[in-house]
Amino acid sequence: MNDNPDIRSGRLASAELEANFGDLHPPLSRSEALIEADRCYFCFDAPCTLACPTGIDIPEFIQKIRSDNLQGSARTILGENIMGGMCARVCPTEVLCEEACVRNTHEEKPVEIGLLQRYATDPVVDAGTQLFARAPASGKKVAVVGGGPAGLSCAHRLAVLGHDVVVFNRDDKIGGLNEYGIAAYKTVNDFAQTEVEYILGVGGIDVRTNCALGRDVALDELCDGFDAVFLGIGLGRSNDLGIEGEDKDGVLNAIDYIAELRQAEDLSTLPVGKTVVVIGGGMTAIDIAVQSRHLGAEQVHMVYRRGPADMGASDFEQALAKTSGVTIHHRAPPKRILGNGHVTGVEFETDAGTVVLYADMVFKAIGQQLSGIEGPVTRNGRIVIDGWHRTSMEKVWAGGDCVAEGDDLTVTAVQHGKVAAIDIDRFLRGQDDG
Ligand SMILES: Cc1cc2nc3c(=O)[nH]c(=O)nc-3n(C[C@H](O)[C@H](O)[C@H](O)COP(=O)(O)OP(=O)(O)OC[C@H]3O[C@@H](n4cnc5c(N)ncnc54)[C@H](O)[C@@H]3O)c2cc1C
Ligand code: SF4
Repeated sequence: MNDNPDIRSGRLASAELEANFGDLHPPLSRSEALIEADRCYFCFDAPCTLACPTGIDIPEFIQKIRSDNLQGSARTILGENIMGGMCARVCPTEVLCEEACVRNTHEEKPVEIGLLQRYATDPVVDAGTQLFARAPASGKKVAVVGGGPAGLSCAHRLAVLGHDVVVFNRDDKIGGLNEYGIAAYKTVNDFAQTEVEYILGVGGIDVRTNCALGRDVALDELCDGFDAVFLGIGLGRSNDLGIEGEDKDGVLNAIDYIAELRQAEDLSTLPVGKTVVVIGGGMTAIDIAVQSRHLGAEQVHMVYRRGPADMGASDFEQALAKTSGVTIHHRAPPKRILGNGHVTGVEFETDAGTVVLYADMVFKAIGQQLSGIEGPVTRNGRIVIDGWHRTSMEKVWAGGDCVAEGDDLTVTAVQHGKVAAIDIDRFLRGQDDG
């Protein structure tokens, strides 16, 4: 055990950092895209479309790529999923659209749907080409609480349908976890903000940042002042391990560190331990483990309490961690954090008995919970909704990570916001059949 933790910034030269945090899946060139598009069988009742949580007509957008109609292709994608650009980068396609691709059974690999989606949407989003016009003003006003994928998707659809929207957002920047959470190498060149600007560019969406529900504004106030309210506040507090020594220096919440990393102007200023232990088995655990390695940590251990099949992270994500030099340990629940003042190691319980892993830094990545919402009925700490995303409160809808039906994916949050907006529109136009 070492009582002098080796934590420092600038472990790697700038060029190495730049390479480590470059685009995980670089974009396709035109010829690559056309070859890939040609691999699509244009299936009737396409299984990929059924597997996409936002129901994008995938054969249709790929067909338009083949005929060089990129704007038409982007229109097909963004009409169902206004964050088609971000989803193209972050969707675990290997368990969604690409898993369903029939090429999997005929050949070894599916059509690269995510990369084709990016090929079609990037030119439109980068240039700010607005493909959607707003319907005549309805005279109705909707409050959207939270400017993450769920809130922005809801706000955009409502604005297109002719309603005026005010987005109340706790954080300084809009975008939610696209801005503060997603791994840096999945969304390079400030794409999250480019996409936010594109979404707001439709008009009719007013944004109030640094304005939190429950602190700066109350739900009752919003219900009184607006015709409808959508809650897309994501999850708040990180879960605690509930073990001895958790309060020692050097034991950090992965989510907080990732937010710092995503906002850092210069990654060489970010301190990281020589040896890092990550506790958890989901996407956040993978992301903090891989990014710690990319910052220059020499040894990174990711430790999960159950087996590989129970991990929240997909096979692709687990493989990415391994090829990045992360050692994954299974079936090892943490027992105790060791150290005097600063962490020196973690004790785990395994089938073979107690095991200690030395650590300069420990990241907790065992999930988050909803915090500070009063009003709507919750279950297991998340807001209960019906099929149209209505909460138990009149005039209040909810979606994204904060609801009980969420699966903690960007694409699902976008779908939730869209479905709620369609129902809110019906309600506002008096076509509500309950
Ligand atoms: C580290 C990490 C990596 C991830 N990687 C991926 C990935 O690769 N692929 C993928 O599909 N998904 C990934 N996810 C999950 C994905 O980011 C979320 O499912 C998605 O962002 C949920 O969107 P949301 O709008 O519900 O919430 P969020 O993105 O959390 O946005 C919530 C918004 O609400 C605001 N807010 C919060 N509380 C209040 C309040 N009281 N008042 C006003 N505003 C409030 C916040 O400022 C924020 O803008 C990852 C998540 C994490 C944590
Ligand atoms: S949004 Fe995601 S799941 Fe849907 S088609 Fe695009 S990459 Fe696939």
